[in-house]
Amino acid sequence: MMISLTFLVFIFGTIIGSFLNVVIDRADMKESPVKGHSFCIYCHKILTWWELIPVFSFFALKGKCSSCKHKLSWQYPLVEIGTGLSFVFLFWRFFRFPFINFALLQNITFESLFIFLTFCIWLYWVAVLIIVSVYDFKKYLILNEVLVPAIIFSFFWKIVLGFLVQKEFFHFIPYLIRFLGEKGFIFGYYSYFICMFSGIIFACGIISFLVWITKEKAMGWGDAILALFLGIILGWPEVLVAFIIAFLSGGVVALTLLFLRRKTMKSYLPFAPFLSFGALTVMFFGDIIVEKYLLLLF
Ligand SMILES: [Zn+2]
Repeated sequence: MMISLTFLVFIFGTIIGSFLNVVIDRADMKESPVKGHSFCIYCHKILTWWELIPVFSFFALKGKCSSCKHKLSWQYPLVEIGTGLSFVFLFWRFFRFPFINFALLQNITFESLFIFLTFCIWLYWVAVLIIVSVYDFKKYLILNEVLVPAIIFSFFWKIVLGFLVQKEFFHFIPYLIRFLGEKGFIFGYYSYFICMFSGIIFACGIISFLVWITKEKAMGWGDAILALFLGIILGWPEVLVAFIIAFLSGGVVALTLLFLRRKTMKSYLPFAPFLSFGALTVMFFGDIIVEKYLLLLF
């Protein structure tokens, strides 16, 4: 059951990933990602159905457009596989919550619909992080057209969740929204809204300060907007763990590139992929990180 569902979630993820590629490509052309047929961005040939199969088509076409033979970017299969894997990791995290099981989800109740809705919103957050990261990696720009609506929607969703928590509407909500899991207590107990707003202030504050002090040389204001998004979706202390992972991985990659002389001290390294990497790691494995690593420190 779990294996076949995991496979289905992966396939679904690659299909969404292929849509994310369209969003990333068409963001430049100022075209709607949902209107019209998919086409080759080089020769504008309309793609046939077998050229639209995620991952498979890229390898079947040997990475070239069937009409103009232009080399296709590795972005396509990588985003598709990455989205598929991300959906699978999130699915597994979801089933590590002790109160979630197949029996609960097989009966359509208000409870199970709410849990399903929460899961869909997580998938949406993953999609936003992937789009923003890939776009920043390619263009050194934060795609506000995607990020700003996500910030507004997520902020209201988290406020609604907060009221549901306070009204003790569903007993499981306080656990469902904690990616660090049961053992997250090592960071102390705080009420929902304190966690939410201190997460936002911490995340946005620290990146804004870095942008201001370095005069936009290391990071841009776009990164501060992304930090605001992370503060909203993760809250305190999740966002702290995400930032630690982001700065550590960013530092390792920057030093490696300097060492290999691929970059100089003056070159710019897009930071959104690292912030997203930190956030995704917390969302997928936060509970395991706390249990296996952080608890050892305390
Ligand atoms: Zn073409």
